[in-house]
Amino acid sequence: MPLRETKDPTLLGVGMTSQRTRDRLVGRLQAAGIADQRVLDTLRREPRHLFLDEALSHRAYEDSSLPIGHGQTLSQPWMVARMTELVVAEGPERVLEVGTGSGYQTLILSRLVPRVFSLERIAALKARAVERLRRLGAHNVTLRLADGGHGWREAAPFDVILLTACASELPEALLDQLGENGVLITPLEDEVGQQWLTRVRRQGQHYEYQRLEPVRFVPLLQGVIR
Ligand code: SAH
Repeated sequence: MPLRETKDPTLLGVGMTSQRTRDRLVGRLQAAGIADQRVLDTLRREPRHLFLDEALSHRAYEDSSLPIGHGQTLSQPWMVARMTELVVAEGPERVLEVGTGSGYQTLILSRLVPRVFSLERIAALKARAVERLRRLGAHNVTLRLADGGHGWREAAPFDVILLTACASELPEALLDQLGENGVLITPLEDEVGQQWLTRVRRQGQHYEYQRLEPVRFVPLLQGVIR
């Protein structure tokens, strides 16, 4: 699928400085082990600064997580790149993201996957993400305000489900909504509260867990905030 570029002229006030800092960020991600060229190209192209409040946008191309209000954070670029790499390795048609947040990870996915669904439990964050994704022409994305722990039954099955918030136990509903050979990628807490990026591969009725690397995410919470 061809990568789409932003055509909206109001978004081109990005300037050279921003492009240079973005190139530098991508160089750092590469040095830190991100190898998938399509993922790197997408991060190089897409405007992370538009997913932050203006007061923070000058920090958009640092490799750090940043606050987006409501006690939530925009994930660190390395983490977005790593998770996207794991998603695209599956060659998925349909991906469900749980935890839209700013919508930045959603945008990156939308450039590399034909169909993206994303759930967010905080209405104000969802509303802002809808607006940004619309302006950036991410028309293959559908967002919904919901507790993502229940998944999205009408849109299932999914080839990949990606959680951007950490659960202590995996919601059963999400595992049920994976396709026959689907994969769930999520931060998951161990017995002592350490979070691990974890890949769960479904093989029929069998689920195979693989612990990847230690990570730090905000918690997966229940219910919806309107
Ligand atoms: N990928 C996002 C990460 C945001 S932080 C970004 O980079 O901007 C995680 C998000 O998960 C928060 O917005 C939080 O509100 C949301 N979240 C937490 N529990 C949730 C749940 N049960 N259902 C849906 N969203 C949830």
